[in-house]
Amino acid sequence: MSRPGSRLEVRDLHRAFGGVQAVRGVSFTLESGDLLALIGPNGAGKSTCFNLLNGQLRPDRGSVRLDGAELVGLPPRRVWALGVGRTFQITATFASMTVAENVQMVFLSRARRLFGLWRPAAACFREEALALLDRVGMASQAERPCGVLAYGDLKRVELAMALASDPKILLMDEPTAGMAPTERLELMALTAALVRERGLAVLFTEHDMDVVFGHATRVLVLDRGRTIAEGPPEAVRADARVQSVYLGG
Ligand code: ADP
Ligand code: MG
Repeated sequence: MSRPGSRLEVRDLHRAFGGVQAVRGVSFTLESGDLLALIGPNGAGKSTCFNLLNGQLRPDRGSVRLDGAELVGLPPRRVWALGVGRTFQITATFASMTVAENVQMVFLSRARRLFGLWRPAAACFREEALALLDRVGMASQAERPCGVLAYGDLKRVELAMALASDPKILLMDEPTAGMAPTERLELMALTAALVRERGLAVLFTEHDMDVVFGHATRVLVLDRGRTIAEGPPEAVRADARVQSVYLGG
């Protein structure tokens, strides 16, 4: 499933809420194979960045280009259809539907958008959904309703749902929030493997520094809306400014 490399170019993003400058001049590039961690204290502007990247919010200034095409001004559904997928901090599955059906629904809605295709969800994309569930370690629970799943398993289903939309770029806002430490490391190891297998580009936020420095290929640190460091994990971890602002050193 790997594809020619994709590139998301974020240039000089700004966004204020009333008098609060939530994001001030953030720039970075995200390419296939990148697992970029966006970190920073609460209120640093991480979630706002995600919302600016997927069309949920409009920047006051700046541009977001996917393989050269401007995304700013497009509605979220359009940005999603162009290949910018997202998982959410809150769980977004249908509790009474089975795990497989939830994943099938995503395949179906993507096919509808791309080809105008419509067939009843239950019959559609079953094999594709089961293959993805197998990849995220959830094949054995495919026929259970999502509502009965353990929290960590639900997070895996959400990852499968995000992958079902076949994203070029995947945005994950706190994918491991609420999980036990070992589960967190497992989910990030799985994400890192998927990045390599599929040539995905992932941007994620995470509070657990073991997860960040164990798996990210690059780290970008925000503080009060500004980028204070960006680079390979080892370099960012050693940065004096990062240590004083963020790591409390
Ligand atoms: P983070 O995800 O890094 O914790 P956020 O992006 O959620 O940070 O918030 C950045 C700043 O912008 C904070 O000061 C927050 O209070 C403010 N903010 C975020 N969203 C809104 C909003 N919809 N309305 C007003 N202020 C907001
Ligand atoms: Mg946030």
